[in-house]
Amino acid sequence: GAIACIGFTWIASPACTELEVAMMDWLGKMLDLPSDFLASSGGKGGGVIQGTASESTLVALLGAKAKKLQEVKAKHPEWDEHTIIGKLVGYCSDQAHSSVERAGLLGGIKLRSVKSENNRLRGDALEKAIEKDLADGLIPFYAVVTLGTTNSCAFDRLDECGVVGNKHNVWIHVDAAYAGSAFICPEYRHYMKGMERADSFNFNPHKWMLVNFDCSAMWLKDPSWVVNAFNVDPLYLKHDMQGSAPDYRHWQIPLGRRFRALKLWFVLRLYGVENLQAHIRRHCNFAKQFGDLCVADSRFELAAEVNMGLVCFRL
Ligand code: PLP
Repeated sequence: GAIACIGFTWIASPACTELEVAMMDWLGKMLDLPSDFLASSGGKGGGVIQGTASESTLVALLGAKAKKLQEVKAKHPEWDEHTIIGKLVGYCSDQAHSSVERAGLLGGIKLRSVKSENNRLRGDALEKAIEKDLADGLIPFYAVVTLGTTNSCAFDRLDECGVVGNKHNVWIHVDAAYAGSAFICPEYRHYMKGMERADSFNFNPHKWMLVNFDCSAMWLKDPSWVVNAFNVDPLYLKHDMQGSAPDYRHWQIPLGRRFRALKLWFVLRLYGVENLQAHIRRHCNFAKQFGDLCVADSRFELAAEVNMGLVCFRL
């Protein structure tokens, strides 16, 4: 904020772009994300810093929409775009954050809320919903799997939903807005099982990893769907180095962007991985301690399993 950098394009501030590429790789490695998501793997994947989880969910939805449109147009050249868009349907659990429903509204597609089991979305429920829609002539294209729901910090079964998504060619977006920070600790990574089947993953370091708002980390296995969906290229934004570094303006909704990677760099350098892990573990221990106090006191009961730093209790 203090240096007032406005990174419109790579040429507006090469460091703003290039540090972001590097930081998203550091952070991805801290979480042990599958290498397909990392720019350093040399494949298509890479990370970008968005402002919020809401934007990431919407950007992923728009990428998924562009991908499905291309696929269906190739199969049915006689269908016009409006016909196809009218048939698209996305999915999330009844525990998903309201920003997912909102992404559906903003993206102009139907979004189905699938009933959860113990607050978690299961693969068979997702599969049934998809099969019913296919039988009704609709086109499933996108599903949001939440790791750490807002209401109770429940974890959808990514391992099951990922298999279903891949089978039906449905883009899987993983929303780990709050809980994703805990994946820097190996003992919480079992919740990420199945991540290799996801198309995009997002969490907010500004929520629980000591980075100031805003810093929402998003990785895409194949950013080209998003880049092509949003690509406009006026003369005044062109530069000679196009193609050799990502132009993040194509990965997001606004044009201008802050130098958010710098604050991530400062946090990672100042604390280091071990201190950040200790910070997460300390909070989880507080929650466990508080949960135990609720259980020990007959006036209170727990309303949900204590997960991460969240305790849902009632009198
Ligand atoms: N997803 C989940 C699971 C959340 O808990 C929240 C809420 O805070 C959001 C998305 C929305 O986050 P943001 O404010 O970054 O859009």
